[in-house]
Amino acid sequence: MSFSFKKTTLLFSIFCGFLFFLINIFELNSNYKNIKTPNSPKSQQNTLITKDFSNKPQIETDDSTENSFKNVKKPKSKETIIIVKKDQTFSSILDNFNFDNKKKFAIINAINAIYDLRELKVNQKIIFLIDKNENVEKIIIELNFNTNLEADLRSDIKIVKKELETFSEINSQEYVISNSLYADGINNNIPNQILIKLIQLFSFDLDFQRDIQKDTKVSISYEKIFVKNKSDYALGDIEYAKIIIKNNTLEYFKFLTDDGFVDYFNRQGKNVKKSILKTPIDGARISSSFGMRKHPISGFNKMHKGVDFAAPIGTPVYAGGNGVIEMVGVNGGYGKYIRIRHNNEYKTAYAHLSSYRKGISKGVRVNQGEVIGYVGSTGRSTGPHLHYEIIYQNKKVNPLKLKLPSGKILTGDELARFEKNYKMILANHLNNLFE
Ligand SMILES: [Zn+2]
Repeated sequence: MSFSFKKTTLLFSIFCGFLFFLINIFELNSNYKNIKTPNSPKSQQNTLITKDFSNKPQIETDDSTENSFKNVKKPKSKETIIIVKKDQTFSSILDNFNFDNKKKFAIINAINAIYDLRELKVNQKIIFLIDKNENVEKIIIELNFNTNLEADLRSDIKIVKKELETFSEINSQEYVISNSLYADGINNNIPNQILIKLIQLFSFDLDFQRDIQKDTKVSISYEKIFVKNKSDYALGDIEYAKIIIKNNTLEYFKFLTDDGFVDYFNRQGKNVKKSILKTPIDGARISSSFGMRKHPISGFNKMHKGVDFAAPIGTPVYAGGNGVIEMVGVNGGYGKYIRIRHNNEYKTAYAHLSSYRKGISKGVRVNQGEVIGYVGSTGRSTGPHLHYEIIYQNKKVNPLKLKLPSGKILTGDELARFEKNYKMILANHLNNLFE
């Protein structure tokens, strides 16, 4: 009964929405007729897109350095946008402008001190602001979707990294599994990246093959992050996830803990994660387990004090738990190696990596499931694999046999803060679904 009531309400809402949409179209149309479109000749659309703002209306702004898009106050100021092409260097890009060699290298050196220009990627955007004397007064490099690097060339070269203002939007969805959590998620337009996070989140408590049956219902809220003046967006965290299986409802809420970790808790304030992952890698098979074995390189019988996971080079390796990077670097036979300290008792180590994720260095905080490096075959290794160790009270233990302590349980003020938080997340989620 309630279903048909909902259905009717839904149909009615859709109808109202459509009506509203029609009215808006009419209004927009009549508005458009009042706007005169200036005949701006299309600039050459190669890699160079030049916009001349001199004949555009003045937009009020008191700081022209604040935002390149607002930089329309000065007469004859121009903006040239360069989209980096394959094999194009920053130096060759600068050759499009009237810099002498000395200035050119000064700019390159100054930027390199903050950002390695060899990391420029194809399709990365670089904006040159040019003054009325045809001198470049500012170079803006878009580092990622919400960070710009600005080189102010007006007197001395000044380089700053600017975080752009972002705003986020919560998307909520509900779907029924007829095939799989992932496939049906994709069919419901949930981004791949979010579904992977969702699977990781559920994997602590769910055995996907056994537990998920036809008509299992999934509910999810996740964050989309936007930057002003840009149409692309980044995906943030899952805010809320719920799955109803046979006799059990799993419900997770995102929460920023007092010690600064983003984590997920149920309504009782119990962390849904196990403290340390037994398998910090996706889709790999165990190629050598913990215990006595003949060492493949030395030939001696030796205790193998970790678990090996065979996986192709470049496969992402996840942090086994929340913690702080204690060591990162080449470590003898381990090759490229990372060790994370989780608490006073537990550490995990990752060996034979091909590379580390950018930003992973000693003292950096990592969250469970976050990529820290990539599978390789460095050090004493016969082929691409991850050698994974769990270290308990400074002794290497068998990850697969370890009885892991369960995650954190919130108490006191932190629990009170969580409860306030989760009620808001839930209200938002329901509001998004049924508004
Ligand atoms: Zn090993």
